[in-house]
Amino acid sequence: MIPYADYHMHTPLCGHATGNPEEYVKQALKMGLKEIGFSDHAPMVNKPMPKVTMSFEQLPEYHAMIEDVQKRYASQIRIKIGIEADFLPGYEDKTKSIIQSYPYDYVIGSVHFIDDWAFDDPATREYWKIHDVDVVYHKYYALLRRSANTGFYQIIAHCDLPKKFGSRPTVDLTDDIKATAKVFKETGVAIEINTSGLLKPIGEMFPSLDCLKIYREAGVPLVFGSDAHDPLNVGRNFDLALDLVKLAGYSEYLLFNKCQIEKRIKI
Ligand code: ZN
Ligand code: FE
Ligand code: FE
Ligand code: ZN
Repeated sequence: MIPYADYHMHTPLCGHATGNPEEYVKQALKMGLKEIGFSDHAPMVNKPMPKVTMSFEQLPEYHAMIEDVQKRYASQIRIKIGIEADFLPGYEDKTKSIIQSYPYDYVIGSVHFIDDWAFDDPATREYWKIHDVDVVYHKYYALLRRSANTGFYQIIAHCDLPKKFGSRPTVDLTDDIKATAKVFKETGVAIEINTSGLLKPIGEMFPSLDCLKIYREAGVPLVFGSDAHDPLNVGRNFDLALDLVKLAGYSEYLLFNKCQIEKRIKI
């Protein structure tokens, strides 16, 4: 049986996803999922970015949209309300005020920016040419550790995202990943197995098997996420995700409710 919960999906409010929440729910039902969680991009805390995240003004609309499907589909599927909030150093107070403004079931922390550069944005992909790949990775893992240390997040998203367009480090990053896994364990955050990478140039899930093994050995728990920006991708490739996390030694994943671990599901 494939894992029955998908905790990472978006809505058109972020400006780069298609399909209304109901279509995501219908696809989830089709895929046989028993639980899903929406986690759209929280308002950018330094400047409005309408193609990247919803605005502060749209937060109530986001909550209302998901509450609506939550109620209407209550007898068919459990729907959680989460949010994906960027970690931007220096803006912790603003981020905190967003995530405390609503009783989210979980908050996913993401590092999409290094020194103001959205390194996973196709629009600025060419910037990879002028950056030292290894420096990007070192900075990325340092930011992941800082994000976990804020205590804002239950889940850390796609935790080897710099590989998205195919940029591989040229040095061994095991120490960086081990240090990150240690902080994740200490701060109690979970990682996600994020299947969206399969559809990106890199063609593999976030994170890789080698990374997963390190997190598993450190005792970092796991959730499943498709990071769907289109209803078609809800729960997509979860059979492959299950195989990969089992190979890494994982035997369970988590469900969240009101930012607390609700349940551990054996796989
Ligand atoms: Zn997105
Ligand atoms: Fe993300
Ligand atoms: Fe996402
Ligand atoms: Zn994402």
